[in-house]
Amino acid sequence: KSGFVAIIGRPNVGKSTFMNHVIGEKIAIMSDKPQTTRNKIQGVLTEKDAQMVFIDTPGIHKPKHKLGDYMVNVAESTLNEVDTIMFMINAEEGFGRGDQFIIERLQRVDKPVFLVINKIDRVHPDQLLPLIDQYREKFDFEEIIPISALEGNNVNHLLHVIKGHL
Ligand code: GDP
Ligand code: MG
Repeated sequence: KSGFVAIIGRPNVGKSTFMNHVIGEKIAIMSDKPQTTRNKIQGVLTEKDAQMVFIDTPGIHKPKHKLGDYMVNVAESTLNEVDTIMFMINAEEGFGRGDQFIIERLQRVDKPVFLVINKIDRVHPDQLLPLIDQYREKFDFEEIIPISALEGNNVNHLLHVIKGHL
């Protein structure tokens, strides 16, 4: 099995951290500053039974200037080229305008989308259910998977689920 997986989400939700954890190299740029990932950065994970190519997209966000516009276009074309999409959110934050913008783009693409709730190491488990309900209302996600990209919690499960959809 092999396939391409796009990772999208607001700036700072942990897309690069996830890539680094999974691929094990500093391939994606790590920064607290939003939008440091300017271009498509790909990481290949090769396992016994599967090969996954991850694409850390530039942050999709509401464009305010030309560069933002360009990055949104790159991100949108990426969504059309992949097999599955990981929509990553920060467990500490609720649904916001940036998420709405992304979901409007996801609705134009007929691909399985996984809602990945990152930074679960930062929240109480009781906070997750209301958050999940909030996002479920907005989009028909294939599956919803909480992880901590930093500590590695549940990351193997996420990879297993994605593999099942390739
Ligand atoms: P990106 O903009 O989506 O690529 O986000 P980054 O991967 O650059 O992460 C932004 C910040 O969140 C960094 O300071 C990371 O160390 C932190 N971060 C990422 N994942 C986690 C996580 O699972 N738990 C915690 N506590 N922090 C995280
Ligand atoms: Mg990044």
